[in-house]
This record gives sequence, structure tokens and C-alpha cells, in this order.
Amino acid sequence: MRSKRIPFLDLAQQYRSIHHEINSAIRGVVRSGIFIGGPQVTAFEREFSAFVGVDFCVGVGNGTDALEIAIEALQLEPNSEILIPANSFIASSEAVTRSGHRVKFVDVEPDTHLVDFAHAESLVSSSTKAIIIVHLYGRPVSYSAVKQFAAKCGLIIIEDCAQAHGASSGGRSVGTYGDIAAFSFYPGKNLGAYGDAGAVLTSNFDLAKRVRMIANHGRVDKYDHIFEGRNSRLDSLQAAILRVKLQHLRKWMEKRSAVAGHYFSLLSGTDDLILPRCPPSEEHAYHLFVIQTIRRDELKDFLSRRGIESGVHYPHSLPTLEAYRYLEQSDATPVANGLAGNILSLPMGDHLTKRQVKRVATAVREFHTEYQKS
Ligand SMILES: *Cc1c(COP(=O)(O)O)cnc(C)c1O
Repeated sequence: MRSKRIPFLDLAQQYRSIHHEINSAIRGVVRSGIFIGGPQVTAFEREFSAFVGVDFCVGVGNGTDALEIAIEALQLEPNSEILIPANSFIASSEAVTRSGHRVKFVDVEPDTHLVDFAHAESLVSSSTKAIIIVHLYGRPVSYSAVKQFAAKCGLIIIEDCAQAHGASSGGRSVGTYGDIAAFSFYPGKNLGAYGDAGAVLTSNFDLAKRVRMIANHGRVDKYDHIFEGRNSRLDSLQAAILRVKLQHLRKWMEKRSAVAGHYFSLLSGTDDLILPRCPPSEEHAYHLFVIQTIRRDELKDFLSRRGIESGVHYPHSLPTLEAYRYLEQSDATPVANGLAGNILSLPMGDHLTKRQVKRVATAVREFHTEYQKS
């Protein structure tokens, strides 16, 4: 008998587990006739800022906008240089260019896959004004490393928390490290809406106010605009859905953590396989469980033949993308460029049973045994 496919992500299953609450939240919004702004958005902003531990949360249209609006609100000198890790999703760097600034790619550390601060320090010049810290895969960048770097280089700290809702380092929640933070609630993220959604978080009152104005046509009143902004708002339906899901997030994080624990116990000691070890002082949100192997493509095919979905995040480092060839920065990021060929994201999420995790791990081990024989 063929066993069922193990999906990388299963949002329909998650919905089935909370459908009563979700349906009632959606019905409530539709019945209220309030679709933009209103009590659901205000309540979500309050609840999510409390969850993260900052004073202000402004809901916006998506995570990419959140980054772009956050950068714009900082009012940096035009054409400032902003440091950004070479291993991330393109949204992190798009936000820099689209807000009128220059991208400078920083290499990553081979073990954490996160920003290499020694390299970052060597790149700082008089036109460097900020750094975007990306808590990639849900792994928090070390808070003490960020503070040390900030003290030395005096840059503005922007956090890209799109993959790391609820993660923390030394008890410090991501989104509270620096000046301003961006979150995404894209459906597949750890806290996902049923469409596009995002938020900007900060404890700086003036910044929060400017973010809200930029995201809503620069308005202070219905038809009173003090500058040109744009339209990027969190809608009421998404806010109501996110409020329901936020209540379950801690439980889902524990589930992800348990999945990671099973992978560790079943996969450690496998030759030629590097697992994403995280020190106990850091709470990893396990958006993704990324392993490293030099035979990545063969392993991915092997798993697929056994009905196991996997992913690659990301198959190209940012500086090597066609979109950034003009910058000619790929020589400076050899670690990130190399990792792109060796990383594989195994199925991860609250949808997985212990049995399924075991099936994945067994298949990974089988692959390595077979390979050694050949
Ligand atoms: C998803 C993601 C974004 C962008 O979020 P969207 O809501 O899809 O626009 C930004 N940065 C990282 C690291 C992401 O994973």
C-alpha cells in the first residue's frame, strides 16, 4: 500500500481544527459592514503588540509593504546604504531599493545561516545608515550580538520578523531589538492570514504615527492629507482571522518545537547531514527546518519519490540573483552563495504527526545509507 503524501504545509487541516471560531469571526465582520479599519483591526493591533512586547502595532497590507513603510518612516537621507543579509527572501532587499536607498549585502554565518556581524562591520561606511536583521527560518538573531554591533557601529536596527513570530533570544522577543520591526502574515507564515497581511511594530510614538499615515494616504483626517502616502492597510476580515489564530499561536509553536525535537533525535549522527542546532538560550520559532547536505538535489528527489514534500529556502543567494547582478556584490558573500546549493527544508508545521516526522526522518536516513553503499 502506498502511504499518503506528507505535505510541506497544510493550511486546510489547520482550518478544520478551528473552523467554528474562524467562521464566527468572519460572520461577525461581514454582519458589521465594517471592512477597512474598525474594531477588529484596532483589537488585533493591541493584541499583537502585547504578544510581541512593543507599544505600537500598525497593520498594513503585507510584509513587504511593512518593511518598505518602516524604512520610509525612518526618513533616512535619500540613497543611504542599508546592510542586509545575503540569505533571505527578496522582499527584504526590495524594500530598501523601493524606498530610495541602496542595498549592501552581508554574508551569513555557516552554522546559523544568519547575518555575519564581523562581515557587516567591515562593510560599514559613512553612507551606511541602517541594517535589516532577518530572523530567517524563525531562528532569532542573537540579541546580544545585535546590541554589541549597534553600540559599535551606531546604525539603525530594522528587524524583518516575517518568519519568526514569537521567537526570542535570551528572553528578548524578536520585534523588540531595535527601532522598528516588520511582520508578515502571509498565509504560510507561522501566524498567517487568509490572504495578504502585515504589520509594522515599534515602541517609538512618532515613528508609529508616521507609519500609520504613510500606510493610509498621509491623512490626518478623512480628506486632510499632510503628505502623499499610499494605500496599504490591514483589512478587517484578515484582522478578525488573525485574532482567532493568535490565540492558538503558542500552542502551534510548541507543536513546531516538538516536531523539531523529533527530527533532532531521529536524525542526529547521520553522516554528511548538518542539523539546525540552536542554543537553549534561544527560542526558535521553527518556521522552517533547514538541513544541509552536499547531495541536496538527490535527497530532494529521493524524498519526493516517497511522497514527501520539501523546499529550498532559498535556491539562490540574493546577490547572485539576476535582479541584483548590476550591484556586482556576489563575490563578497561566498558562504551564502554556497549554502544555497546545500540547504533543504523538511516538512515543518503544526499539521505533522509524530508518525509522519518519523517517516520523513527514516527516508532521510535511508538515503544516506544507500548513498554510502553506492
Ligand atoms: C514572507 C517574507 C517577507 C514578505 O512578506 P509578504 O507578506 O509576503 O510580503 C519578507 N521577508 C521575509 C524574510 C519573508 O519570509
